[in-house]
Amino acid sequence: MYLIGIDIGGTNLKAGLISDKKLIDKIIVPTNYFDIIKQVISVIDELLGNNNLLRSDVQGISVGYPGMVINGKIASGSKFKLDEFDFQEYLQSEIGTPVVIKNDADLAVLAEKELGEINSKNIVMITLGTGVGGGIIINNQLYEGSGGAGELGHVMFEKNGKKCNCGRNGCVENYISLRALSNRAKEIMSTMPNNIKVNGNEVMASSILKAYESGDDCAKIILNEYVENLTEFVLDLCNIFRPDTILIGGGLSYAPKIIENVAFLCKKQQFGLKNSPEVDIKCAKLGNDAGILGACAIFK
Ligand SMILES: [Zn+2]
Repeated sequence: MYLIGIDIGGTNLKAGLISDKKLIDKIIVPTNYFDIIKQVISVIDELLGNNNLLRSDVQGISVGYPGMVINGKIASGSKFKLDEFDFQEYLQSEIGTPVVIKNDADLAVLAEKELGEINSKNIVMITLGTGVGGGIIINNQLYEGSGGAGELGHVMFEKNGKKCNCGRNGCVENYISLRALSNRAKEIMSTMPNNIKVNGNEVMASSILKAYESGDDCAKIILNEYVENLTEFVLDLCNIFRPDTILIGGGLSYAPKIIENVAFLCKKQQFGLKNSPEVDIKCAKLGNDAGILGACAIFK
């Protein structure tokens, strides 16, 4: 049986062909903000074509969307201008295969629970990418509230702070997303000499970490500030949810030392200190593929 998992990111769209819970092929293309519907259909057909398969060979398709999705309908929170559009229904009739569309971080946390060998009943996951996503599992169930819960990137970090896409100012995603890290790194790098490699217009977390490990002072300032910010946010999540596990996914899955640092600092500062249950804070196991692999949790 074949499944397809699509993960629409703020920068790239990833599509994976899955067989027996294993990713057997993957396509990554820059996200097309002007016609995401056409792009999703074309990557599905490309994946199938590359593997000599037909649409009818696929048992289910999951699509992770970087915004609020309620019952397959796009509610809001994105630049795709698809508000109120029933993306799930449309794709299903277009492709002729069962389709489930959910928030991208919801799919990621479901995949981690299903495939990441996590025994926790209560898990909070944050995905750090262009933005910050959140997925919450309470008592083994995805928590969706009355629809669309878990927009963790849009909790306030600084009153009257940096402008957010959602219209509010100071949301945490403008401080801890990888885009925010890159932007802040560029600001700090412009003020002092450094050996941090810049990829095009982006400063990757891995480049900052590499420079940090070679003793670069600028990288030290950037990472210390970032780790402090991320720690404050993760501490809030510990104190609100007191889950068994907090998973940090997205691009930082490949920089586990940053997460280890955050976990270390959180251990010392959680409310309740020694008398409260310890929250296990760690990197998401499935890395950047968690969103794609959400298909395995949906179509079991
Ligand atoms: Zn916001």
